[in-house]
Amino acid sequence: MDTRPVIVVHGGAWAIPDDLAERSKIGVKNAATCGFSILANGGSSLQAVEAAVRILEDDTAFDAGHGAVLNADGDVELDAIIMDGKNLAVGAVSCIKNIANPVMFARTVMEQTPHVMLTGTGANKFAEKIKFEKTPTRELVTENAVKEWEQYQKYKQSVTSLFNTERMHDTVGAVAIDSKGNTACATSTGGITNKMVGRVGDSPIIGSGAYADNFTGAVSTTGHGESIMKVTLARQVLFNMEKGETPERAADQALEYMKNKVHGRGGLIVVSKSGEWAARFTTKRMAWASVENRILNYGLNPGEKFQEKLDL
Ligand code: ASP
Repeated sequence: MDTRPVIVVHGGAWAIPDDLAERSKIGVKNAATCGFSILANGGSSLQAVEAAVRILEDDTAFDAGHGAVLNADGDVELDAIIMDGKNLAVGAVSCIKNIANPVMFARTVMEQTPHVMLTGTGANKFAEKIKFEKTPTRELVTENAVKEWEQYQKYKQSVTSLFNTERMHDTVGAVAIDSKGNTACATSTGGITNKMVGRVGDSPIIGSGAYADNFTGAVSTTGHGESIMKVTLARQVLFNMEKGETPERAADQALEYMKNKVHGRGGLIVVSKSGEWAARFTTKRMAWASVENRILNYGLNPGEKFQEKLDL
């Protein structure tokens, strides 16, 4: 029997300012709708999460691809991961430059190399070798990213104190299950403003920024990378589900554990092998959207859930 396809996307867990709220909502709704139409036409969950994340990477409202935040040198270094729950195939890239769609590049690493992750100059060398489309840094940088970076430079705030204010983390991600029951996930980010050159966050780290296994489900996370890595947040959610928790309770317990253990805040989206899903966060806001049975759900504030019927 066919499984009912579901997709869930997020646009980052942080204190999204009011002037970005509407754009963030529209962005996640578009990405979820596009991902779902792939699933509804018989596409795989892997295709759906890649397409959804590409849309979010192309949207300058989010810190991934176009619109990425700047590191301490004022440069853009990007991280991404994609994982197939059918066979645990995974591809990740970290600290890469001049690539507008890191999720697509992560998939290429998964499919065209014997490795799981390529980083920095080595990753960019591989991109050149296979003639992966190159995008000049100036095209990825938005006015907003420059403004934020200048403020950070001016006040010489440390990365840690900035995180306490829940500013500037705005990763994107997607999880899905297709009609064959296969799960997949993808996460992509510019990281955090003013991060040290060479800093890699949780997003491209398997089990932290994302994980997918048909045995349980798929997860994509967002939030303070240094905390998420310490508790391997994505895998923790699936562990909780393996113990019998619902996706929502599994997510809340994992986020609570991270808060208590390492004072970290964040958010995540999860879909189970039977198509149950949840979007949960401990930050002020997280833009998220999901589609199941042609019903689009979305929200931004805690406890918020709007619904629209899709005409696909
Ligand atoms: N987790 C990302 C990082 O630390 C940031 C985010 O989710 O917004 O790089």
